[in-house]
Amino acid sequence: MTIEEDLPELRTIGVLGAGQMGGGIAQVAAQAGFDVRLADASLELATKGRDKIGAQLGRLVDRAKMSEDMRDGILSRIQPIASSADFAGCDLVIEAATENFDLKVKLFKAIDDALAPEAFLASNTSSISVTKLAAATSRPSQVIGMHFMNPPPLMKLVEIVRAVQTSPRTYEVIKAAALKMGKVVVTSKDVPGFMVNRMLIPMLCEACFALQEGLGTPEDIDTGAKLGLNHPMGPFELADLIGLDTMLYIAEVLQREFGDDKYRPPTMLRNLVAAGWYGKKTGRGFYTYDDKGNKTGRAVQT
Ligand code: NAD
Repeated sequence: MTIEEDLPELRTIGVLGAGQMGGGIAQVAAQAGFDVRLADASLELATKGRDKIGAQLGRLVDRAKMSEDMRDGILSRIQPIASSADFAGCDLVIEAATENFDLKVKLFKAIDDALAPEAFLASNTSSISVTKLAAATSRPSQVIGMHFMNPPPLMKLVEIVRAVQTSPRTYEVIKAAALKMGKVVVTSKDVPGFMVNRMLIPMLCEACFALQEGLGTPEDIDTGAKLGLNHPMGPFELADLIGLDTMLYIAEVLQREFGDDKYRPPTMLRNLVAAGWYGKKTGRGFYTYDDKGNKTGRAVQT
């Protein structure tokens, strides 16, 4: 029997972390027909995450881009849960909690304890070693990186990251799940930042250095990238969308793990994070945002 013929059918997917990425991943999985269990640090936060998905789908219904039946079907497949223990019975859990190594190791151990031996465990981490996360579990060959892009319902790509221990069968199972979610898959080795953030984060940091040096305003630098490079978003708009806390963490991982100061995070980025200005999710980063996430002005002084 070939690996492809031997693949188990995944039915129930757990998502840990109901923030912007976890919520989006839960939506994409439910849209693809999987039963989804969504967890965060509490049942209240998980329920909030599901309500946010409901509000986003509601906007699609209002614009006649989705039927009410379809929205109700998707939401009925997403069950908020109180803790990792409720992942018991899931075929796969995708962890999408805050980008922090110690936190992810703790969460991976808790999920590992809850799951049946044959279940799979994936991380949506942007930069953390999947090999180290796998080593913290009792099932290292069934652990993999499943790096969705932001926002998951709109972005076509999933970057699959093979840890040193990831088995070929695990890779095929996760690739099939990503394809079922309608995604295009690329595969990366487990190196800091993988492929996409290895290219992106130095570019975003460079835009920040340019701003610090006074090359131009944030609006001019963003317009330069959009109209000069044909990027759909400028670097500061994208950094605010990603979350400046996440961006800083990734830049620190790249600098530390490669031992190369070309990846050093700009002081301005450190300061914005120290101020609690994380971007769109806190309403303030390089720019300011209203409750609906629409840009309302500039936050940084130049
Ligand atoms: P976020 O801040 O929107 O959400 C993180 C969630 O993790 C929050 O809801 C938080 O309550 C939850 N959390 C924190 N501690 C927890 C705990 N102890 N138990 C359970 N949940 C806990 O961040 P995000 O942007 O959704 O990022 C999540 C992950 O996705 C990170 O690993 C990040 O690197 C990765 N990622 C982010 C992007 C992006 O553009 N933001 C893109 C790809 C991957």
